[in-house]
Amino acid sequence: MIAERDFARGIFHDTFLGSPQEPVWKWADRKIFFDQKQTAQMDRYDSSVTPWVRDIQDAIRDPETKEVTGLKSSQTGLSQGALNAIAYMPEHCPGNVLYAINSKEKGSDVANIRLGPLLKKLAGSQLSEDPNDFATLTMRLKNMVVKVSGSGSASPVRETWYRVVVIDEPEDFEQLPDGSFYDLVKSRFATVADATLFVIGKPQLEATKKDPKSGIIHRCFLKGSQEHWRLPCPHCPETFVFRRDHFQYHQHQSLEGEWDLAAMEAPGGVWYKTPCCGERIDEHQKYELVKQGQWVPAELKDRMKLSNEPVAAEPGVRSFHINDYYSNWPEVTWGKLFVKWVQCTEINPNSAQREDYIKNHDGLPIAPKEIYVASETINALRGGITERITIDQINEDGTNDKITREQILGHRFGLSYNQEGKRINDLPIKPVALTISVDRQDEFYKWTVIAWSAASQSYLVDFGISNTDGQLLGLRKRPYYFEGKKYFIFGGGVDRGHKSKVIYSLCQRSIRMGWPLVPLLGWGQKHERYLTDPIEKRTTTLQNGEVMEYIRFHDHSIKIDFYSETIQRRTEPRLWMPDPVPHDIVTELTSEYWDPDLRKFVHPDGAAPNDYGDTLKMQLGVIWPVFSPLFD
Ligand SMILES: [Zn+2]
Repeated sequence: MIAERDFARGIFHDTFLGSPQEPVWKWADRKIFFDQKQTAQMDRYDSSVTPWVRDIQDAIRDPETKEVTGLKSSQTGLSQGALNAIAYMPEHCPGNVLYAINSKEKGSDVANIRLGPLLKKLAGSQLSEDPNDFATLTMRLKNMVVKVSGSGSASPVRETWYRVVVIDEPEDFEQLPDGSFYDLVKSRFATVADATLFVIGKPQLEATKKDPKSGIIHRCFLKGSQEHWRLPCPHCPETFVFRRDHFQYHQHQSLEGEWDLAAMEAPGGVWYKTPCCGERIDEHQKYELVKQGQWVPAELKDRMKLSNEPVAAEPGVRSFHINDYYSNWPEVTWGKLFVKWVQCTEINPNSAQREDYIKNHDGLPIAPKEIYVASETINALRGGITERITIDQINEDGTNDKITREQILGHRFGLSYNQEGKRINDLPIKPVALTISVDRQDEFYKWTVIAWSAASQSYLVDFGISNTDGQLLGLRKRPYYFEGKKYFIFGGGVDRGHKSKVIYSLCQRSIRMGWPLVPLLGWGQKHERYLTDPIEKRTTTLQNGEVMEYIRFHDHSIKIDFYSETIQRRTEPRLWMPDPVPHDIVTELTSEYWDPDLRKFVHPDGAAPNDYGDTLKMQLGVIWPVFSPLFD
């Protein structure tokens, strides 16, 4: 039943302001014309070209919808949709608007070319009488103010309240001292009734659980209704979405293996094979088919997840995904798209271009490279470095403020010995033990020495090369000092590799000297899973009948822990590096990289060796777990 008051208001609106019942898209189809400055594509707005935008813009009429996320590819008409909704407001649902985009040029383009002229034409009677206002990025209408911010700065958010905020390309915004631009808008929005927040943009990285700053647009999408534009199959009763892996194309390769890209781009060169019944859809059917689509929230089992964890749909949050395969623009035909795809995956495979394609055309985020060890990552492990951190401060009235401050991590220390074997520094801590980790090369040994604290914190205090067994075994007598007291290396491990005979005999010698060096054997296969229990003690009987104990460790798991946790995330208990970090340590620890496609570590030909990285990996992952029970 319609309350009398609402009925009266309806008549009032119908008479004086146009119908409030008219959806934004219908109104836009009637009212929005472009001049040539704005677009070469259309002279008037036609919502049938981008029918998926209709519901999205209409969110401003829906009091239940507080937040709208459009996770999109490059050619989807969503920005224009948001501008239409703003232009609709003065006559239908006035209220202040902020359109935020982090680019001065794009901001000025929105204000002066796209939105300004639209509002002048449509809300002419309600324009502010001060014409100077239009020269700035603030447009004053009689019943509302529209601000366009191209700076990414927080001030327009703090200045006033808004009925509608559009954050265009949120991935382009820099982190503010107190969180992201999105966080700031959200915190201001909490108390505004009837407000609608539009977050629209192309994705960059996937949102991850570990890094709360990654993938803002994807994160917003995840917590919403996750709707897709589903099309009714012309061949069966099912519906489907357009996605890249269901497209087909003739390989069009000549005998010499050359691709005939022109044939691919020609009509019929690329077609869609429906996932429901396997029938063929051609591009000329696209416009009619897409027009019949509708937004359908993903079923629970199909929802995209945050690091394999489901994210519940928040009430009042609608999120939409759309890609370029739906687009009716002539520059993104299926043929053109797949020529581009084949170029970056088949003809000149290039992972950066491939990622660009996925972000820009599939409108999908890229999985972050979990492990990317750069020299900055290694240098960040130094004791005593100063970092800016943001922390939550709880005020007396119970409110929460984010404050940024400088923090010194650990304390600065230097290596105990230089590369000439001269003692130069005391130990940074009173150690519970010192351990050595050794990697055998063809002609020499490379080793690192770690000082361990009672809390299992590790400090790199010495490293170097020994040319003979004698030199290496001599290290057991090398003194390290802390507050005038001498400490010696307790023992450690030697990478056995394929040189089992040499290493076993070295270890036998050292054990007889009362210096326990244990052979370590890494194992693994090409495609690895992560094992949570990667170490096991084993024994072997040597030729002379002696039984030798050695440690077998799963190399991939130890490496993942070391590079992605200890090194990259500085996980506790920490590894501390001396300041400065020796050049050789930095180079060797950064010589391998993680290939996200192969899902394994790659050590390119010609790159620096990674032996010191291996010794440190064994220190933390193998030697300490094996030896530490002795020091409890
Ligand atoms: Zn079908």
